[in-house]
Amino acid sequence: MPAVNKVLVVGSGLAGTATAILLAQEGVAVDLVEVKPEVAAIGSGITLQGNALRELRRLGAWPRARAAGFAFDCLGLRAPDAGGTLLAQIPDVRSGGADLPATMGMPRPVLARILLDRAADSSSKTSRTTVDSRQGSGSPRCAGSPPPTTGRGTRSDPHWTTRTG
Ligand SMILES: Cc1cc2nc3c(=O)[nH]c(=O)nc-3n(C[C@H](O)[C@H](O)[C@H](O)COP(=O)(O)OP(=O)(O)OC[C@H]3O[C@@H](n4cnc5c(N)ncnc54)[C@H](O)[C@@H]3O)c2cc1C
Repeated sequence: MPAVNKVLVVGSGLAGTATAILLAQEGVAVDLVEVKPEVAAIGSGITLQGNALRELRRLGAWPRARAAGFAFDCLGLRAPDAGGTLLAQIPDVRSGGADLPATMGMPRPVLARILLDRAADSSSKTSRTTVDSRQGSGSPRCAGSPPPTTGRGTRSDPHWTTRTG
């Protein structure tokens, strides 16, 4: 039995989404609020080491992440020549466990989408709302409270609640 039954998570980046999934898995009703209307991710690619892969498995996101990513167990150094001559190949450590690759690379927006979908699937109690929590009193708003007068949310993701204003 969790000590709390309802939590507001502000920001649906990797940390916020992972937090929402873990809370939902414990039966906590989660409101995940995000200021950006679209699934956004800084940069194009992300390199995930063993500890991150282990956490993706704990979040129930590993099968999709594994299918979408490029896993590797060594680091190759190549010369900047036309043929990209291989200079050295350095084995990497499987720090997440023997059954996980040492490292995996994948597009950031894909990882963000996998985690958001997982949050939606984790519990019917989880909802994501696009809202700027910096508006009004400056305090985050909880689900059910009136929408902001100048909110910027425009999401049309069928998984998520969208609050516009
Ligand atoms: C160039 C670069 C390369 C990197 N490469 C790697 C890598 O290869 N491997 C790796 O593991 N890590 C990498 N990192 C680090 C990794 O990207 C970050 O640690 C991680 O994305 C942080 O996630 P987060 O959820 O804490 O924050 P963020 O991703 O910043 O998410 C915060 C979210 O909160 C929202 N938000 C903010 N304020 C509000 C508000 N008031 N109301 C509502 N929503 C709000 C934001 O819009 C955002 O979506 C890299 C970082 C950078 C900058």
